Amino acid sequence: MSDQYKFTLEESEIPTSWYNINPDMPVNPAETAWNAVLHPGTQEPATPEFLSVLFPMKFIMEAVSMDRWIEIPEPVRDIYKLWRPSPLIRARRLEKALDTPAHIYYKYEGVSPVGSHKPNTAIAQAFYAKEEGVKAFTTETGAGQWGSALAMACNFFDIDCHVYMVKVSYEQKPYRRVMMETYGAEVTPSPSDKTQYGQSVLAENPDSPGSLGIAISEAVEAAVTSDGKYKYSLGSVLGPVLMHQTVVGLEALKQFEKADEYPDVVIGCVGGGSNFGGFAFPFLHKNFTEGTKTRFVAVEPTACPTLTKGKYAFDYGDSAKSAPIVKMHTLGHSFVPPGIHAGGLRYHGMAPHISSLHDNGDIEAIALDQVSTFEGALQFARAEGIVPAPESSHAVKATIDEALKCKEEGTSKVIAFNLSGHGFFDLAAYDEYLHDNLVIYEYPQAEIEKATADLPEVQLG
Ligand SMILES: *Cc1c(COP(=O)(O)O)cnc(C)c1O
Repeated sequence: MSDQYKFTLEESEIPTSWYNINPDMPVNPAETAWNAVLHPGTQEPATPEFLSVLFPMKFIMEAVSMDRWIEIPEPVRDIYKLWRPSPLIRARRLEKALDTPAHIYYKYEGVSPVGSHKPNTAIAQAFYAKEEGVKAFTTETGAGQWGSALAMACNFFDIDCHVYMVKVSYEQKPYRRVMMETYGAEVTPSPSDKTQYGQSVLAENPDSPGSLGIAISEAVEAAVTSDGKYKYSLGSVLGPVLMHQTVVGLEALKQFEKADEYPDVVIGCVGGGSNFGGFAFPFLHKNFTEGTKTRFVAVEPTACPTLTKGKYAFDYGDSAKSAPIVKMHTLGHSFVPPGIHAGGLRYHGMAPHISSLHDNGDIEAIALDQVSTFEGALQFARAEGIVPAPESSHAVKATIDEALKCKEEGTSKVIAFNLSGHGFFDLAAYDEYLHDNLVIYEYPQAEIEKATADLPEVQLG
């Protein structure tokens, strides 16, 4: 084995196709409905006509495609070259600090211009919109990572971008807003008076801090009432988004070949599930087709325990019940999460694919509290130098725990995790951790029961 740290690829080795897991899903779609997208009003399967009011047609076709490999359009691949291939790094200094026999690798997506994995899908979605003559995208953002990615992508393809940003983040984290505006996007704190739904939320609670569910409702309303001028873009959860992210795992596969190793455990944090899915699915494909026995661990916050405590049921994608209904692990569409620092992990639902795979036992899930994740983040930063995003720190901490288990058991496993982004815009959170102001929050079971009491009753015909 080499003594290399970094496993890099040539630009020419950026994958030419994404991996579409649809044909390989181990569970019957009719049974588990991982691919059922229902109209929020009629609760009947959504027609392409309904969905096309929201999304570019190309995106909808990807969602239902049964082709295993989908070619990455050349203009998208060209923009990927600005930062891809991203490095796979052996965390030798962390291994040493932990004194573990485990081999730890991380794929670093923080090298993108906006500092996370999110442009991998933003670029593709903006390209489709441009091709179909769409004038603008509306979207929501929590902490601002998705908003910055889409703002950059829209700017590259010369279309407008209107972002509804969860108000509490808009007020507390101005730098992400400035970044979006730098790319030319318009940013509105949500709830706002620009939409009927926003007005109704404000009428009930003028001090509403907002939530992703509310911001999605506003962005969806702005799109559907625009006479086809605007479409809506979502940065996670949906099948095509996870598929666009597989560029991450596909690169990692090639890099592991160069390292002459193969992961026993693959770890990622989960918000809506896109960075985890994008990293894990190409390895899962090997489990399905080549009999490898890699374990997959999805890591979520105890403050938003979608996979570990949510219900696996049909639910709306947003608070206003205007976004499509899908079957997923959910904390309920009315869920308003506590203000933990991993803003990107606060969505009430989970990607239907991830939910189904978890339900089927193909992937494991654990929940970690934010104090222990920052503990892991600091350990990582002090060993490897990179300051991880609070979201990614969930994967970091889970990896450290796995590596320590290896030490206890005296086994040398290969552990790979996706370092989905850097934490340079989250230093206020680090400041709180460093000065003992960070609290542990576990979402109460009673609240979960309450929020999941009014899920839609769906009968699939
Ligand atoms: C948005 C975000 C996440 C969570 O979203 P997923 O769709 O689950 O990947 C994780 N890490 C970072 C850095 C993010 O920006």
